[in-house]
Amino acid sequence: MPLHKTNILKIYNSLSGEKETFVPIHEGNVGMYVCGPTVYSNVHLGNVRTFMSFDMIFRYLLHLGYKVRYVRNITDVGHIVDDVDEGEDKIAKKARLEQLEPMEVVQRYTVDFHEILKEFNFLPPSIEPTATGHIIEQIEIIKKIIANGIGYEANGSVYFDVVKFNETNHYGKLSGRNIEDMLANTRDLDGQSDKRNPQDFALWKKAEPQHIMRWPSPWSDGFPGWHLECTAMSTKYLGNHFDIHGGGMDLKFPHHECEIAQNEACTGQTPVNYWMHANMLTLNGKKMAKSTGNNILPREILTGGSEFLSKAFSPSVTRFFMMQAHYRSILDFSDDAIVAAEKGYNRLMEAMQNLKEIVPKNSSTIDIPTWKKECYEAMNDDFNSPILIAQLFEGVRFVNILKDNSATLTSEDLGIFTKTMQAFVFDVLALEDGKSSSDSNARLEGVIEMLIRMRNDARANKDFALSDHIRDQLIALGIQLKDGKDGTTFTL
Ligand code: AMP
Ligand code: ZN
Repeated sequence: MPLHKTNILKIYNSLSGEKETFVPIHEGNVGMYVCGPTVYSNVHLGNVRTFMSFDMIFRYLLHLGYKVRYVRNITDVGHIVDDVDEGEDKIAKKARLEQLEPMEVVQRYTVDFHEILKEFNFLPPSIEPTATGHIIEQIEIIKKIIANGIGYEANGSVYFDVVKFNETNHYGKLSGRNIEDMLANTRDLDGQSDKRNPQDFALWKKAEPQHIMRWPSPWSDGFPGWHLECTAMSTKYLGNHFDIHGGGMDLKFPHHECEIAQNEACTGQTPVNYWMHANMLTLNGKKMAKSTGNNILPREILTGGSEFLSKAFSPSVTRFFMMQAHYRSILDFSDDAIVAAEKGYNRLMEAMQNLKEIVPKNSSTIDIPTWKKECYEAMNDDFNSPILIAQLFEGVRFVNILKDNSATLTSEDLGIFTKTMQAFVFDVLALEDGKSSSDSNARLEGVIEMLIRMRNDARANKDFALSDHIRDQLIALGIQLKDGKDGTTFTL
């Protein structure tokens, strides 16, 4: 029997502001859409945190035995600088600055995104659609919104009439904003825009002559508005009504609010049952962001090459650091915090090794079924990974007392204990054993020291062909040997 039948999963729904029992639309199946990256530059560690939160959620749903269709898109057009309607497309701007074809920019940063996700042990989504691959679907949605009287054309662009929509629906229900306040707090358009109301948003924008990213449409040669792509791609692959929609907290308004409005204006149906928002990663108390430079890149974590870091950290230590906070809490990054996380991670991995050596006895002195139940309760309570980790450290304590024979487990309990620890550590939290950078650095240094000793032996035996060969091979790998009067040292 799949585990989801015996586990009551609660999810915090941003739409209701409450934790709700998760009931999928189709029993045993989950449709989940998560807004992907805008591929105009390298993802920073903040972006990685949001995607990692949803990777953990995806993994737990799979662990519970759900058949999950997880769609995460690539935004390769339509996202305007500063998240507004007027201005330059983020990708077009980068292409202009670097004198590249926009799709070269898209390709470069999509490849980089995939490399980072692989490095950090992400599961790939089931479908990864691109906005430019779904222009036809977006045009069809605009046609329906216009036909339903909520969209209007002005000078080749098409806008969503928020005021008209709000007469029959509720614009602001996700973000808790109220349209009257929004209208009162925005400047008059002074005739500078084609919009009827300042809150209206673009469904289609007519491209200026110099704008290179353009497609034909019934209204003009132009490009779709940013919010539209997610409405088009989520419904295409998950249907007009699906289970979960996720993204970073900063996407709640306007992006997700506009998505709901578009869906409702197009199909008359509210699209999503559970809206989930992951909270921000901050650095020195400020949001990590590409635009402000207040960020760390994932590769800088792996090499230690950032002013904010004292050394390198492995992908698994970084993951462990992230998972120690609940996905809905703000997490502040600091060198001290990740150094502490590395110690915790190493203790956990040591216990996972020691667990393999434990032998069963005739009786159990630890209540494993209760401990296991508490692990599941933590995750069933809105994916509470920090409480799960506290439970796993209770597991570490069990390993230690089992190892020094002050506790015992029957073979059945030992089997349940081992399976549960492995499932949560490796499958759900996706930590990898032996991937701590201090571990692998120590191993690498050991191997180089061994080669230096072999080279010294070769030189003592006057076998200079071999000693030179060792030195040259190391240089080819980027390892430089330096002979001094106190012996040979090396630099990487
Ligand atoms: P973008 O590429 O800007 O569209 O962002 C991709 C994802 O990263 C979105 O879900 C954002 O909400 C999320 N995001 C952006 N900045 C941060 C941050 N500092 N911490 C966590 N998530 C973030
Ligand atoms: Zn989106």
